[in-house]
Amino acid sequence: MIPLSVPNLKGNEINYVTNALVAEWVSTGGAYINQFEKDLADYVLTHSAVAVSSGTSGLHLALLEAGVSAHEHVIVPTLTFIAAVNPIKYVNAHPIFMDCDDSLCLDVAKLEKFLKTECDFINNQLIFRETSRPITAIIAVHIFGNLVDMLSLMTLARKFNLQVIEDSTEALGSYMLIDGAKKFAGTFGDFGVFSFNGNKIITTGGGGMVLAKDKEKLSHIKYLSTQAKDDELNYIHNEIGYNYRMTNVQAAIGVAQLEQIEKFVEIKKNNYHLYKQLLATLDEVTLLDFREDIRPNYWFYSLAFQERIDVARIITALNSQGIGSRPVWGLIHEQKPYKNDYSFEIEKAYKYVSSIVNIPCSSNLTDKEIRYVVSVIKEILFNETNGQRIKRLNN
Ligand SMILES: *Cc1c(COP(=O)(O)O)cnc(C)c1O
Repeated sequence: MIPLSVPNLKGNEINYVTNALVAEWVSTGGAYINQFEKDLADYVLTHSAVAVSSGTSGLHLALLEAGVSAHEHVIVPTLTFIAAVNPIKYVNAHPIFMDCDDSLCLDVAKLEKFLKTECDFINNQLIFRETSRPITAIIAVHIFGNLVDMLSLMTLARKFNLQVIEDSTEALGSYMLIDGAKKFAGTFGDFGVFSFNGNKIITTGGGGMVLAKDKEKLSHIKYLSTQAKDDELNYIHNEIGYNYRMTNVQAAIGVAQLEQIEKFVEIKKNNYHLYKQLLATLDEVTLLDFREDIRPNYWFYSLAFQERIDVARIITALNSQGIGSRPVWGLIHEQKPYKNDYSFEIEKAYKYVSSIVNIPCSSNLTDKEIRYVVSVIKEILFNETNGQRIKRLNN
């Protein structure tokens, strides 16, 4: 079986985990947590970072710190993993779902149309006319390692007084060059969140990291993640806190993984280009590009098939031949818990959901495996098109 996306743990992971165990620092305190926070902040060129138990808990804390209150609205894309959306409900707010553009990320131009036609900006507050409730934040999800058009988004957000939370769980290492300086995913908005779940570009088994532009807000996030403890000795709590800290054992894995991230990106980049080259002769399918003005982390590869191809059958056929493959997530505005929430002109998301297949992209994928995957795709297309394709090529 060639899996879709699995961990690559051949660096210092075992050594560092052993150190943590020998020192008997296995819980939510310890030197590796501090080191992982510092290393990650240094890597994405920001002042500091707070390690948490998952990307989902990080997003929850970012929404709390952004000051999103009950019954307010938060803008979010419908084409995303549901973990980007559920935390909106944790704070009793309501999502408004937006479409994607050809990068698969939030369509910022369409968002602007929504803000201008469906909302009023009164006393520095954006109001959704339909419900008369404030819209306070945007969760921008960097899909598959691509980047949302963050420069346009930030301009729009500042204009309408909206907080921006970057769900960068899939985009650790992706950056844009601005006047020659690297600007990493997670550092454009007011808050940025990473995930180290097993399928992400680096993993700690499970875990996450939160960034914030404002240092005080970030230390308050750390406080909330540690049961909001005001006094270590007497256990005084002046707010409702959460048990959202990462453990030292997870952080030990994280430190070792982060040492290798640029190597992983390099491998994924080469694998992406090999797939692209081998698939270039096929009319029915293209490997989607990343945005041209960024250095992506090449986390996930998206094969986009022409409309006449039945993607579900392609996936079944790939899986039956030992190749891990899946469709894009079911759109969130159509999921049962979100059916009654608002959405705005969803069009491209439908198109992409029914035409994209994700194919193996792990950083330990070999050339031979990539060639096998492509040969199977060719064979499946041959069968699906009753040999039309091959005949055409031979003519
Ligand atoms: C993985 C992921 C998350 C959640 O991260 P966890 O660490 O699994 O909680 C959130 N949003 C997106 C887009 C993701 O891909």
